[in-house]
Amino acid sequence: MDNKKKPNNKMNVPKFSLNWMYAIIAMMLIGLYLSSEGGSTTKQISYNEFQQYVRNGYASKVVAYNDNTVELYVKPANIKEVFKQDATKVGKTPMVTTRVPSNESLSRFLEKERDEARFQGTEQYEEKKDYISAFLWQVLPFALLIGVWFFFMRKMGSGGGGGSSVFSVGKSKAQLFEKGGTMKITFKDVAGLAEAKQEVEEIVEFLRQPQKYTDLGGKIPKGALLVGPPGTGKTLLAKAVAGEANVPFFSLSGSDFVEMFVGVGASRVRDLFKQAKEKSPCIIFIDEIDAVGRARGKNPSMGGNDERENTLNQLLTEMDGFGTNSGIIILAATNRADILDKALLRAGRFDRQIHVDLPDLNERKEVFGVHLRPIKIDDSVDVDLLARQTPGFSGADIANVCNEAALIAARNGKKFVDKQDFLDAVDRIVGGLEKKSKIMTVEERRTIALHEAGHASLSWLLEHANPLIKVTIVPRGRALGAAWYLPEERQITTKEEMLDEMCATLGGRAAEDLFVGRISTGAMNDLERVTKQAYGMIAYLGMSEKLPNLCYYNNDEYSFNKPYSEKTSELIDEEVKRFINGQYERAKTILSEHKKEHNALASLLIEKEVIFAEDVERIFGKRLWASRSEEIMAFDKTIEKEKKNAEKDAELKDDNETKTNTSEKEVDLPETTTDDSTK
Ligand code: ADP
Ligand code: ZN
Repeated sequence: MDNKKKPNNKMNVPKFSLNWMYAIIAMMLIGLYLSSEGGSTTKQISYNEFQQYVRNGYASKVVAYNDNTVELYVKPANIKEVFKQDATKVGKTPMVTTRVPSNESLSRFLEKERDEARFQGTEQYEEKKDYISAFLWQVLPFALLIGVWFFFMRKMGSGGGGGSSVFSVGKSKAQLFEKGGTMKITFKDVAGLAEAKQEVEEIVEFLRQPQKYTDLGGKIPKGALLVGPPGTGKTLLAKAVAGEANVPFFSLSGSDFVEMFVGVGASRVRDLFKQAKEKSPCIIFIDEIDAVGRARGKNPSMGGNDERENTLNQLLTEMDGFGTNSGIIILAATNRADILDKALLRAGRFDRQIHVDLPDLNERKEVFGVHLRPIKIDDSVDVDLLARQTPGFSGADIANVCNEAALIAARNGKKFVDKQDFLDAVDRIVGGLEKKSKIMTVEERRTIALHEAGHASLSWLLEHANPLIKVTIVPRGRALGAAWYLPEERQITTKEEMLDEMCATLGGRAAEDLFVGRISTGAMNDLERVTKQAYGMIAYLGMSEKLPNLCYYNNDEYSFNKPYSEKTSELIDEEVKRFINGQYERAKTILSEHKKEHNALASLLIEKEVIFAEDVERIFGKRLWASRSEEIMAFDKTIEKEKKNAEKDAELKDDNETKTNTSEKEVDLPETTTDDSTK
């Protein structure tokens, strides 16, 4: 399996396949079966005929078996009488077979015939030989063993990747995208990421005209590390670099190196670089490089992962091994640069780090621009609004929204995808599918309404809480109710903002406590979030008065030892409790002060299922801290339309209630069909 012979080293190498094994075994079986017959004619006859033949003196030999079958070999001279055929046509040892009553009676019969000199042949008694089963018994176990072995090797060899077999375990599993292939991605397809693009543009230049740099004595960088959360377009960017420079692109994931056999990872690295050298100039893209590139030997107590370390060492060696002008540039992606081995980040290896962050408002607009290109949209779609509705979404999420919107529109038989489809898609991606069919008791609905109204009231009343967009008690995904907020996109967060957020999050439980009189499981998510946040504020951000300015953040993944004493750990626990209880009491106080409004909000929720910032404003009055109220009101148009839909929904609900068992899809329909009918 020499790579050099194959110009395009993909997985389409003809392989030694299991089918060949089967074929060989089958042929051997058939061969043996035929040879056991010896190619001579046999004829089944009755015992009477058999006796007659012996009396006639036709038999040259009689072989009796233990299963009472008997073979009679016919004398060459008598073949004509027995087979009514020429001696040449019946083979060397033609015989007839029959069953005898018992071997004793046969032996008596032959004795008698011998005495009367009519039978002079030999007489044999043998064990029945079953060639096929004998053969199977000898060969089958081995065949089975080999089969099982092959099966497992194939499984292991192809773990995670395409159908490679045992013979290519040590081959790299990189996918090769040839230049000028169908996948031509350029910077046009990558929205936003201006700084990152600028950085990689230089790499494109290196690949296009390396002499320009080397002539001046400059060294071409060997690699760049793309750091950022998943779905932000790291792979896309790397592909765009290859597309722009018009060079081949090898793509694989760090976990492709990891295999259970010792030495496989290292040999895959070697193979990858060998392939790349043949294709140079080219780009190697290693996704999730942390799978191999994690810091070595940080945790002696776990014994380390020798195989991974070997792989990493090989990678380092290869990166050192190729000259600066060999034209191979390695791009790697990770969302955690801090856990990578320092050796990888050293000069001459991945010496550049390019940060690829979640898109901000303007970048989201651009990403929408890219993904709306292939979609048929009508005039109602407002990219501005969509970008604002999707804070915290990654590029991949936005691509998903566009696709989902198209699907929703198609499901409703529309000709174009409109704004409502996009808003539905956003809601669905944030909260999962609406489950209107979920059966709830009146009491449960009331509890959920009070809970959600608690969140909504507090976020309206607290200065730093994120302003509300809408609240619903229609279950979605696994959540029983949900509130949509417009988070401020900020780079730093103050302690006050965090505390207000905690208070609003605790508002659900506080409202249950105050107005239902019983607390419920519905608040688990809220509590989890609050606890994590409080812990982070105290242990990592140094925001508590008792432990000021201390950060116990530790990025060592196997840290069994806390970097603080038992006493501090108790103090942290205490402070977490104090923070949370403080905000809980605050939430309760505020809610009791605004009991009337809160309860009005809850009733409205029960009645309408979905309410919007407007409704909250009608009940509570203008938000005191409405610094961003214009922003919220910018959603007015959307809100009106959604409200109309909600009302129509309410009308349609009667129809729905008769079929509570309908599937999710069917239940989802009314929402958008109403939309259709408004047009
Ligand atoms: P990552 O490698 O960072 O996890 P990908 O590059 O695989 O993310 O992104 C997944 C998909 O998301 C892309 O195929 C693309 O459709 C979309 N996407 C992500 N970021 C962007 C962006 N900046 N511009 C356009 N599309 C993007
Ligand atoms: Zn809640």
